[in-house]
Amino acid sequence: MSPRKIVIAIDGYASCGKSTMAKELARKIGYIYIDSGAMYRAVALYCIEQGLFEGNRLDVEALQRHIDDIDITFVLNPETGRPETFLNGRNVERDIRGMAVSDKVSYVAAVGFVRRKLVALQQAMGREKGIVMDGRDIGTVVFPDAELKIFLTASPEVRARRRVDELRAKGQKVSYDEVLHNVRERDRIDETREVDPLRKADDALLLDNSTLTLEQQDQWLMQQYRRVAGLDPQ
Ligand code: C5P
Repeated sequence: MSPRKIVIAIDGYASCGKSTMAKELARKIGYIYIDSGAMYRAVALYCIEQGLFEGNRLDVEALQRHIDDIDITFVLNPETGRPETFLNGRNVERDIRGMAVSDKVSYVAAVGFVRRKLVALQQAMGREKGIVMDGRDIGTVVFPDAELKIFLTASPEVRARRRVDELRAKGQKVSYDEVLHNVRERDRIDETREVDPLRKADDALLLDNSTLTLEQQDQWLMQQYRRVAGLDPQ
């Protein structure tokens, strides 16, 4: 029996390892993986580069005038086999991961017309199913009918430690305190914004991965997928 093609939504707090988990599952089951956070990060990079920020204050009216000039696509890197983010035809995969963008992205993601544009793009990407998408509102807004929804969490300290290790491995100089502050601040803004705030969908499965190894987490996720896709006897 061939498995039922489904939509898998993975939401949760900042730096919980959502993308690591989502990417690995997509690779194993041959699904498309979409990092919705990368799209908000690309818009934030655009705003920074266009001088639309003064401190943490975003010039929302100027962004509204430019919103149709922003084109975001994903292109598969043939060497790594991973999708990379392009902003108006330029590869910005590296630029969007730094602290400068992390510091500003949640302000951009709180703007209603930005969310409407990106949600529409994300929904179009999932039309054929066979997709794993991670973010903050995937199970609640983008794909409320997703067959499998996961809500991931871990303590802020564990998340900051992992994020520091990840950024340092990429050669970026960051301090633990700076990253912990950023993780907490993004969660606060994401949870309290008026439009599509971060929250667990009622039908999402909650996973706290603070004390799980990657292998344990992947195994758990695979079990959930097999159950929902009809690969295991009920
Ligand atoms: O997933 P990542 O941490 O890269 O996302 C960066 C930011 O983009 C989040 O802190 C949040 O403000 C925003 N975001 C969002 N909705 C999504 C994905 C990301 O608001 N679906």
